[in-house]
Amino acid sequence: MSREQNERHPPAAVIWMPVGKDAMLASTALDRAGIVSKLCKTVADVVAATLEEDSGLLLLAEEALTPATIDQIQAVLSRQPAWSDLPIILLTGGGTSTERSLHKLRRMQALGKSMLLERPLRSVTLVAAVRSALSSRARQHEIRDYIRELEQAQQRLALANSDLKQFAFAASHDLREPLRMVNIFTQMLLDRHIDKSNRDAQELAVFIRTGVRRMDELLHDLLSYSRIIHDERTRPDNSFDLSLAISDAMSSLMVEIENTQTRITVASMPVVFGNRTQLSLVFQNLFSNSVKYSKPGVPPRVEITASEAAHEHIIRITDNGIGFEQRYAERIFELFQRLSDNDVSGTGLGLSISRRIVEQHGGRLWAESEPGVGSTFLLALPSSAA
Ligand code: ADP
Repeated sequence: MSREQNERHPPAAVIWMPVGKDAMLASTALDRAGIVSKLCKTVADVVAATLEEDSGLLLLAEEALTPATIDQIQAVLSRQPAWSDLPIILLTGGGTSTERSLHKLRRMQALGKSMLLERPLRSVTLVAAVRSALSSRARQHEIRDYIRELEQAQQRLALANSDLKQFAFAASHDLREPLRMVNIFTQMLLDRHIDKSNRDAQELAVFIRTGVRRMDELLHDLLSYSRIIHDERTRPDNSFDLSLAISDAMSSLMVEIENTQTRITVASMPVVFGNRTQLSLVFQNLFSNSVKYSKPGVPPRVEITASEAAHEHIIRITDNGIGFEQRYAERIFELFQRLSDNDVSGTGLGLSISRRIVEQHGGRLWAESEPGVGSTFLLALPSSAA
């Protein structure tokens, strides 16, 4: 894109010198070399031409500069965007430098990338100097185009992201209501209109309700997932001992833990800066998985340890469950991805939600596992903010 743009609008030399022999010579020499130029008569013309998108350089004769005109040029150059550093070529008097002219030249040189050309003017020197300045300007234009493309891409991304968030939130929120209706009316149908002896109809109704429940679970988890970014209340907001989030999670799963004789051992935990409710949800998901994916007949064991690495705390959550092949260690964090049979309850969203929460804390969550041995989930949380 940038190359096409430059071909369509080649940077032009903006020339300002009292129109006369030198001005004509410069303009003709550049024209012959195939370089576009704009001959200016007044400083106002120079200012206007400098503001043009395709301005390539300023070619200024020393005698055209006075303290006032330098001020005007300085004002317009100081408003250049960050990518722009308009090259300046100054034609000097040709050996008759006075203190005043030196002062003017020094002021001009301070304005940016400038170069002095001695008169009498030789076409070949002028063209070479202009070409080199224009090619440096063309690189600046490339950077400008690149910055613009990047900004546009960022805008598109932000828009798509916010659309997606709103969509996920609205879809999961609004779809749950009709689902509740289906559930209620199926129950009414069962209670009032379907004879208890009609086994086929009873069975179909049970299928409907199972489907509805499953859909409701999926929507509930999808809603939790989109809320993590949407809802201010999910952001890190406090410093606390991480063991508190772990005990919150254990309390929420108390019945499950007792029924399955799960034993969870927790070593000393660091103080972290985070959202206690959200981090406890991460542990809840991990513990619940350790219980769900435990080996048949083997009581689940979960061990949690913490260590300090460069700028982060590493928390390891290890279980003695069925494990999985290491090649699936990334896939399990994707939305709706499950390795297990469908008869194990779940939506395939627990780990996606957990990773999103951890990432919102500036941390990382990943897994290591071996089938038949067990899994370790690793949670890295920044220690600098703790
Ligand atoms: P769900 O448990 O609802 O299926 P998750 O996102 O929590 O969804 O987990 C994704 C998948 O990763 C699970 O379906 C399971 O196959 C695998 N998995 C997660 N945790 C464990 C674990 N501790 N041991 C073995 N497999 C696990």
